[in-house]
Amino acid sequence: MLPVLVIHGGAGLIPKERAELRRSGVRSAARVGYAILQGGGSAMDAVVEAVTQLENNPTYNAGCGSVLNVKGEVEMDAIVMDGKTLACGAVSAVRNIANPVQLARLVMDKTIHVCLTAGGASQFARAMGVPEVPEESLITDYARMRWKKNKAPDANPMESQMGKMGTVGAVAVDVEGNIACATSTGGMPDKMEGRVGDTACIGCGAYADNTVGAVSSTGHGEAIMKVTLSRLILFHMEQGQSAEVASDLGLATMKSRVGGLGGVVTVDPQGRWAACISGQQMSWAAAQKDTLHHGLYTGEHFTQSIDDPH
Ligand code: ASP
Repeated sequence: MLPVLVIHGGAGLIPKERAELRRSGVRSAARVGYAILQGGGSAMDAVVEAVTQLENNPTYNAGCGSVLNVKGEVEMDAIVMDGKTLACGAVSAVRNIANPVQLARLVMDKTIHVCLTAGGASQFARAMGVPEVPEESLITDYARMRWKKNKAPDANPMESQMGKMGTVGAVAVDVEGNIACATSTGGMPDKMEGRVGDTACIGCGAYADNTVGAVSSTGHGEAIMKVTLSRLILFHMEQGQSAEVASDLGLATMKSRVGGLGGVVTVDPQGRWAACISGQQMSWAAAQKDTLHHGLYTGEHFTQSIDDPH
């Protein structure tokens, strides 16, 4: 069953015209990340590379393509976690870099801290030689159009908050049985400046532990934080539930206790995996053996050969 890599491209209402882009992006990122695992690479290298691919893809709400805050600016959150040592690194409200997931990894590898935020994260990025990019290079026409739409007097605030998101994340188990996860996002549309979401918070947007498994989550960040969704799911797995049942239980708790919707990808140490959503849609892909599994709508599960380039 090992190695395995599972990816999501964000939960939310995915507009029909963007569904195909969302599907193909996660499929190709899964192939790239899985090739690293097949070559004997680490779970950490695989999840960071898969998430980097999706940050560079303007279809998703991470890196280029991030949603805009209330002032029309890009502030991004990202996290990585290594299940062998429980080492983790995160950045929140970071600006002007192309790949927040790589900066999160540098926080893990090069500092004694777990999370750096805003100006401090930028300063650290400069010290590490991470190139600064103009904000405009991270903003797509689509993100700008949606931001303007949300400002219209007849905008539906619920729709703008919950709809059309596209956070990205990955979980993996490598051939040595090491487990890792990574999540990256532009956050919630129209968020207040300085808002820190679930993605940067350990146990909320992601968690990995070699003895239990790993989760990367997406959805309404404030709801995810209130139930510490990723750790809650791993708790259910510690109690003997499968990755799939535990994921559904965690998402059900989030819905019933705080009215939040979302989705997760989950793995256990044996390589059993799940991609689960509560209510809405989530593009996802999983690579294992010679097969690529993928889907977008609830209950959808396609399979194809990992070598099929489409
Ligand atoms: N969880 C992300 C956040 O609240 C958004 C998302 O997953 O779409 O920042």
